[in-house]
Formats: sequence, C-alpha cells, structure tokens
Amino acid sequence: MRWTGDRVTAHRHRTEHAPVCAAALPLGSATVTEADCLFCKIAAGQLPATVVRDDELTLAFRDLNPQAPTHVLVITKSHYPDVASLVAADPEGLVALHRTAVAVAEAEGVAGPGWRLVFNTGRKAGQTVRHVHGHVLGGRDFGWPPG
Ligand code: AMP
Ligand code: ZN
Repeated sequence: MRWTGDRVTAHRHRTEHAPVCAAALPLGSATVTEADCLFCKIAAGQLPATVVRDDELTLAFRDLNPQAPTHVLVITKSHYPDVASLVAADPEGLVALHRTAVAVAEAEGVAGPGWRLVFNTGRKAGQTVRHVHGHVLGGRDFGWPPG
C-alpha cells in the first residue's frame, strides 16, 4: 500500500497505537488510520455503531440518519478520503468494499428487488465524511435522476 497526497498525518494502526509516519513503513496490509476521522474511530471500535458486517478489510454499519429502509455504510478499515483515492492506492480494498456491499444487499433482502450503491465524492456531491464510504440503499423505490 502506498500513501500519497494529504495523508501525511496517517499512521499505521498498531496494537500500541503508536503514531508512525506511513511513508517510512514497508508495504503491507496493516490498517492505516487518520487522527480525528469519525469513520476511522468507528473502524477502531472507539465510537459506537450498529455493525452488520465486519471482515479484515471492511466494515459495514447502519447509517445514523437512514434515507431508506435499508441504509448501510460500507467503509474500508484503512483511511482513504474518497473513492478516487481508494482506487488509486488500494485496488484490493476497492474490490473488498464492493464485495461487502453486495453481501450486505443480499443479507438485507434488497438484492432481488433492487438497490443502490452510492459514493458521494466531493463537496458538490454532498460528501460530508472524508473517509471513503459506499451507501447501500434499498427497501423502497428510487427516483432517477437523483436529487
Ligand atoms: P456522505 O454525506 O456521503 O459523506 O455520508 C455520510 C453519512 O454518514 C451520512 O449519511 C450520515 O448520516 C452518516 N453518519 C454520520 N455520522 C455517523 C455515525 N456516527 N454513525 C453512522 N452514520 C453516520
Ligand atoms: Zn478515516
């Protein structure tokens, strides 16, 4: 895993929580977290969430302010500000996130009727949390184009 751009404060999440500059670390699969990131804290178990799925690379939990009967957020445990930075840095994490989203849709019973996977990316799209997350939405009809 390589780290670029605005992630100079990122550090490996080690059991002793020692902040270490990621750029100085060898490549590997250890989780990278960022201080003061809401979703990093949820991934680390430091903030509560209603978790519906948890694996090595990803976490899925219910949105606090659901916009549909099923509204689950899927994140990578490593910190990336948005889907573009995830694509660039961690294709394995990108695939894992999508696998988890599909598994959540199936488990929630929305895979058959239909569901959406939404990545709000950037200010104009309404992204409010700068840690990549896919919204798994289902359980009702959705309009197109989206608002
Ligand atoms: P976005 O606007 O695409 O960045 O989505 C952020 C989402 O995170 C929103 O749908 C919020 O309702 C949701 N959210 C914010 N804080 C929490 C939290 N602590 N637990 C679960 N969902 C949250
Ligand atoms: Zn984060």
